Amino acid sequence: MAKAAVLYDFNQPLKIEDVDVNPPREGEILVKVAASGVCHSDLSVMQAKLPFPPPVVLGHEGAGVVEEVGKGVDDLKPGDHVILAWVANCGNCAYCNAGTTHLCDVGMQAAMTGEEFTFKKNGTDIMRMAGVASFAERTVVRATSAIKIPDDVPLDRACLVGCGVTTGVGAVMNTAKVRPGETVAVFGCGGVGLNVVQGAILCGASRVIAVDLSPQKLELAKTFGATDIINAADAGDVPEAIRALTGGLGVDYAFEVIGSPAVINQCFLSVKRGGKAVVVGVVGMGTEVSVQGFSLALEEKSLIGSLYGSANIRRDMPGLVDLYMQKRLKIDELVSRRIKLEDVNEAFEAMEKGEVARSVIVFD
Ligand SMILES: [Zn+2]
Ligand SMILES: [Zn+2]
Repeated sequence: MAKAAVLYDFNQPLKIEDVDVNPPREGEILVKVAASGVCHSDLSVMQAKLPFPPPVVLGHEGAGVVEEVGKGVDDLKPGDHVILAWVANCGNCAYCNAGTTHLCDVGMQAAMTGEEFTFKKNGTDIMRMAGVASFAERTVVRATSAIKIPDDVPLDRACLVGCGVTTGVGAVMNTAKVRPGETVAVFGCGGVGLNVVQGAILCGASRVIAVDLSPQKLELAKTFGATDIINAADAGDVPEAIRALTGGLGVDYAFEVIGSPAVINQCFLSVKRGGKAVVVGVVGMGTEVSVQGFSLALEEKSLIGSLYGSANIRRDMPGLVDLYMQKRLKIDELVSRRIKLEDVNEAFEAMEKGEVARSVIVFD
């Protein structure tokens, strides 16, 4: 039995209730969740923009302590502290073998369909979102999606490595591979966008231009290292403003962290010849994106996507945790508020109003 936040109908508040938790099957572990970030993708599920049919336990940015391990799990044991990743890596499919573990067949199946049944209420199955379902006191996940971390890492900070930190920093380090001295623009400075900003600083970008509509988020972007800010509400032509800041050229990389076709086009217009527009924001299913075709071959611009920071979770998550513990990566500053599970619906309202970088649910 565990208290959980369950989505029963699209566009309705989550219901906080006790649910039954099945024991871990072969290759799975039972985790006592310590904390979970509230991410924009949870809201997207509620709004039917991602393919998880209710009833489903949401939450995909969690960390906790292993309570029980299923058959065949020999690299984790009860008491281990873990971050929960929403793309497992099986280590055995064509994608994992090719070194692109963030596209793992097994992991993507769970991340995109939430097919497994972990929870039950009155005999009815309830899905777990993205193989994680961290809006629950206890959850069951694949052992291949749990990353062990040292016991002294605070779990209410570590949870954010499960999605926002890895997605944002990884987009810069792994997908774009920004090099020292290159220039970067970041469109959208929420929980993930701020991590793109600090990823660019970690990679040595000479100019990191933050773009948003919210003055508060732009101020926050400065504390994460943005060298310049542009408020798109009053900047007029944003790509022009970016060129003005970069000697008339445009940036090497523009990251889109919103999921808006119009903003993706702005990113594409903001990069210089040979530059890359990197889409991190999730564009809703069935929505098309268009850019000026001329600029592809004749200006050698690229439009590329980035999933989960192109991260190898076994390599990158412990590395990001180390950077945090050495105070070289900001996570404390991402946590706008700590809340109880019962307050999760208000956290979504605050998110929609643009009031918070991250709300973090802390379990007793
Ligand atoms: Zn997320
Ligand atoms: Zn795989």
